Amino acid sequence: MSSPAKVLFIGIDAADKDLILEWAAAGELPHLNSLLETAAWGVTQSPVGLYVGAIWPSFYTGVSPARHARYCYEQLQPGSYEVKPVSPREVKHEPFWDALNRAGKRVAVIDVPKTFASRLSNGLHIVDWGSHDPDVSGFAAWPASMAADIEKQFGIDNLHNCNAFRTTGEEFRDFRDMLIQRVRQKTALSAWCLDQGDWDCFVTVFSESHCVGHQCWHLHDDRHYKYDPRLVEIAGDPVKAVYKAIDEGIGELIRKVGDDAHLVLFASHGMGPHYDATFMLDEILRRVEGDPPRQRRASLVPLASAAWKLLPQKVRHFARPVRRKARTSLGLEQSAQTPRRKSFRVPNNDAYGGIRINLAGREPKGLIAPGREYDEFCEALSRDLLAFINVTSGEPLVKAVLRSADLYEGDNLHYLPDLLVEWNRSAPVEEIYSPNTGTITGTYRKCRTGDHTPEGLFFIRGPSIAPGQMQEQVSVMDLAPTIASLTGVELADVDGRSLAPLITAQ
Ligand SMILES: [Zn+2]
Ligand SMILES: [Zn+2]
Repeated sequence: MSSPAKVLFIGIDAADKDLILEWAAAGELPHLNSLLETAAWGVTQSPVGLYVGAIWPSFYTGVSPARHARYCYEQLQPGSYEVKPVSPREVKHEPFWDALNRAGKRVAVIDVPKTFASRLSNGLHIVDWGSHDPDVSGFAAWPASMAADIEKQFGIDNLHNCNAFRTTGEEFRDFRDMLIQRVRQKTALSAWCLDQGDWDCFVTVFSESHCVGHQCWHLHDDRHYKYDPRLVEIAGDPVKAVYKAIDEGIGELIRKVGDDAHLVLFASHGMGPHYDATFMLDEILRRVEGDPPRQRRASLVPLASAAWKLLPQKVRHFARPVRRKARTSLGLEQSAQTPRRKSFRVPNNDAYGGIRINLAGREPKGLIAPGREYDEFCEALSRDLLAFINVTSGEPLVKAVLRSADLYEGDNLHYLPDLLVEWNRSAPVEEIYSPNTGTITGTYRKCRTGDHTPEGLFFIRGPSIAPGQMQEQVSVMDLAPTIASLTGVELADVDGRSLAPLITAQ
């Protein structure tokens, strides 16, 4: 029987590369382990400083964030001080499956994060059936008539948004089991779609590795400041349990396509303890500019903030304008103050802080002139940030302050933060000090105990591929042109390059 797919792509969202390699070697992930023997494989690099929100759009477009312009779930709208949620439809470059579709290829796409359902003429596209941080528009399918069938056969995702304050071992155990169940259902859904057969390119992504890493890192990492053996006694290591379930799912899908197909597997980015100071960055910038310490207003504010995060994502989406008004009138909303600030924090997830300079000619009420004044301001601000010490560890708070313009090139560079703050993430941050600014304290109030690290892994296996480790790191932007070239299509106008010539057997 011929293979149901010529190219099978499997993504494992935010499955940490070091854990994969460690657990594969220990025999815990047998299918991933066998790929280390049979595939060309290596380490991937993701967009520096912006990778958390840019990695999947960079994967599926093959271009840098300075071109596709998507790096966070909410972004500053250029030409204003307004921050708005970003829809997948705003990604400013086409996904590679649209090019394959135009070339007459039959393509299936399942749950690639941050996408909308493409109208693939001879294919199918399932969006957010079960993914981490789904878009507010929720589960969608193309052809649309598939959606009801999928719900009937495979159910719907009861988890939706994984963020919640879990405290007991039983809550973490139940969460682990829900994720494992979702892995099994995702495997069944993918197998069902695969069985429709004759796919030139079949793309599916497991996201449970992402959810479990954010929510359960402190049950995995016994050096984490929230590690509690009483929770581990009941819930075990949920990270390992979920990775093992995904490995089983991978095995099942690989068996279906056999050895004649090309397989591309991608573990997108990593996970480590959630130690950073992004939650303090706005206060840091205010204090550097000489503002007095922010008064802790009502003690109800943190409570209200925690309650807000517990609301379903859809409710939060529609209630956001009302909340913003209330926060503005209380003086809590950052945008109420940005026009008079020289620099201000912009959303960029948590792993790197994002800073916008209030630039004359670009921002509506810009205060810093372009050219020399901008350069000098950036240098002075970088020096100020590098002077902070994390009092808990005694180490510098900031490893580096990077300029987006030094890292990226593209028509949409103006969408990106000007500066990217690379935190020293060796210890939790609660109190920081610099000689210029004095002491600043704060508390991280979100539920996540794990957060991202930049490197990932790729594996490519197939009849024409020479197995072995590639020493050189490859860019995540190389994967779309590689997948396309394995189906016989050359992607035009991308920043990545096909890896096929490097890994093809001579
Ligand atoms: Zn994440
Ligand atoms: Zn999640």
